[in-house]
Amino acid sequence: MMLSILYRGPLSSCNYGCPYCPFAKTKDSRETLEKDAAQLLRFVQFVQQQHDIQFKILFTPWGEALIRKHYQEAMTTLSHLPNVHKVSIQTNLSSRLNWLQKANVSKIALWTTYHPGETDRTAFLQQCHQLDTLGVAYSVGVVGFKETITEIESLRAALPAGRYLWINALKKQADYYTAEETAVLQGIDPHVAYNMVHHETLGKACKTGHTVISVDGDGNMHRCHFIKEKIGNIYDTTFRQSLYPRACTNATCGCHIGYVHLEHLQLYQLYEGRELERIAPV
Ligand code: SF4
Ligand code: SF4
Repeated sequence: MMLSILYRGPLSSCNYGCPYCPFAKTKDSRETLEKDAAQLLRFVQFVQQQHDIQFKILFTPWGEALIRKHYQEAMTTLSHLPNVHKVSIQTNLSSRLNWLQKANVSKIALWTTYHPGETDRTAFLQQCHQLDTLGVAYSVGVVGFKETITEIESLRAALPAGRYLWINALKKQADYYTAEETAVLQGIDPHVAYNMVHHETLGKACKTGHTVISVDGDGNMHRCHFIKEKIGNIYDTTFRQSLYPRACTNATCGCHIGYVHLEHLQLYQLYEGRELERIAPV
């Protein structure tokens, strides 16, 4: 049995100050960080004990978690477990990367996001280069603000040709992009069209709740990050009974970490097993 878990603990702080983000330059209290570390350790121990499950794990913290030693250690431990197929994390890639030398890098994958204004392109690319040297798989992405498009083009030109660059499209405002801007973005990210819409999902089959779940620090299971109904708890020995096919109960789904699991979009084929970390073949 293969189970993908999107884990999000109580940590909600970030060392960057992106102006659109509620976690910009926030600090967690020592108590919150200790609780986050203790809950993460419990999660790692849970994974360790489920010998009959192969796990794909994506950490999706509210803020930046990879600067924290307990995430680096958790990822390292998980990467060495025989029943972990993959362990990934969403990160701004600002952390030191030497911890990866102790990890089984063949099982690590990073979902990295470049934040112009918070770091410069050269510094970000140096981090990417270090990942290349270490042999770590990763995707690179950028939020597609209109005023960032030129910088995204420069980043694309500077990245190795085989490195996928995804773009998170702005979709709150209809017709936000001109036709020309859309064409430029599609030239950079051939799959950005999937991210430019809120997919209509009510009643549609989605793998979440069956082979994919969202888990919080207390072990509470939700089918995904977007539907609040609790479906179980991984620390309850009967948690497997909560896993079965379900139709989506939300009207729409607009984030990669959600719609990638919709059956009818068949995006698992497109991502060839790297849907969690958002690495598409280019
Ligand atoms: S790096 Fe991510 S979490 Fe941190 S402020 Fe920017 S958008 Fe928010
Ligand atoms: S389509 Fe999106 S909102 Fe609906 S169940 Fe799947 S991940 Fe959740």
